[in-house]
Amino acid sequence: MANVPEPQLLSFRDARSLAEDYASKLSPTDPEMLPLLDSAGLVLAEDLRADRDFPPFPRSTRDGFAVRAADLSTLPARLHCIAEIKAGATVEQSAVTVAPGEAAEIMTGAPVPTGADAVVMVEHTQRSSDTVIVQRSVASGENIVAMGSEGRKGSVMVPSGTWINHATVAIAAAIGRPEVAAYKRPRVAIVATGDEVVDINLRPGANEIRNSNSYSLAAQVSAAGGDPVILPVARDEAGELALLLRKGLEADLLLITGGVSMGKYDLVEAVLASLEAHLFFTGVRMQPGKPVVFGQAKPGTKTTPFFGLPGNPVSTMVTFQLFARPLLDALAGSKPQPLPFAQATLKSAFNTKTGITRFLPAKLGGTHLRPEVELVRWQGSGDLMAISQSNCYIVVPPDREQFATGETITILLF
Ligand code: AMP
Ligand code: MG
Repeated sequence: MANVPEPQLLSFRDARSLAEDYASKLSPTDPEMLPLLDSAGLVLAEDLRADRDFPPFPRSTRDGFAVRAADLSTLPARLHCIAEIKAGATVEQSAVTVAPGEAAEIMTGAPVPTGADAVVMVEHTQRSSDTVIVQRSVASGENIVAMGSEGRKGSVMVPSGTWINHATVAIAAAIGRPEVAAYKRPRVAIVATGDEVVDINLRPGANEIRNSNSYSLAAQVSAAGGDPVILPVARDEAGELALLLRKGLEADLLLITGGVSMGKYDLVEAVLASLEAHLFFTGVRMQPGKPVVFGQAKPGTKTTPFFGLPGNPVSTMVTFQLFARPLLDALAGSKPQPLPFAQATLKSAFNTKTGITRFLPAKLGGTHLRPEVELVRWQGSGDLMAISQSNCYIVVPPDREQFATGETITILLF
């Protein structure tokens, strides 16, 4: 068995930027054409260009009357109503010209006729037969979205490399694209380790536990645009571990859980060393997740990055989000995305010790005027109940130990 190299313990910041730098040099998977809805959650592999001007006509944003703003300099103004233009009006129906002293009744989403340069809301008017009395003035351009102001024909509306979310889907639909090019989901192999860990289809013995990490990771990988491949649980035995890690290194990214601490049977680093893996870091000054390992190996013709994530379930989850996620972003075709930090008011005071960055399971609530967060009581990084009741982490920097009720605190959203 090869020796384990000197441990490289980094600060959270250094470890994160190392992962981001590594990620930014990775190439994405191949693109493929997909039905629009199948592409949601993947990364766009082409620029989505406007097939015509957006909007394609000057669009009224209100129900009311299309007018010449200059006609409303004296109020109330009496205008002669010459037409009604509804959304979806034919070209003939909308081909009227609003002359001085005239107005056209118009609906939201309808084309504003020539001559008119503003729309006055119906709430500010009274109609009696052909006459409309307007009670309020409007500025030129008010309640009209000019033709082409959101995008000119041929212009890029969504660039390649964007995560396809509901807004991207809306744009693709608006430009008439039932299929779009997206990068294929990167394959992410998952190897759980531990003599005590049994698969969820088996009955655990008295001192055994079920493998939850492979499944939580698979769910995180899927949500992050990857294709999880769960490999069998590896015993804490070098030969079996080596075999499974080799298999896992055939994927685009390998995630290992457990076996990276200092215990006698924590063999992952030694086995990786025997595969001539290069380790970028072998620990991070953080909690949970301190023993996390990041490296790459080339057992065959291709180099594959891997993470050895600590086995405690909350440690596995948080280290995936903090360090593996940027690599998944890059393999999926996007730039590594910034972590979703936010700020909220702390509901109850707490103390910690200095020296490491902490990510403590917490619950964000309150209102839009005052988002509030509080720690979830937990039994440490193996506590699945605590994490399932949380929706974020409170982030404690290494130099702080006392946090008072009412202070503004940084959180990391899931
Ligand atoms: P380790 O990192 O291997 O020392 O494991 C740390 C803790 O996490 C131990 O209590 C393990 O039993 C637990 N653990 C390890 N792997 C898993 C897993 N796949 N699912 C659930 N718990 C695990
Ligand atoms: Mg173990």
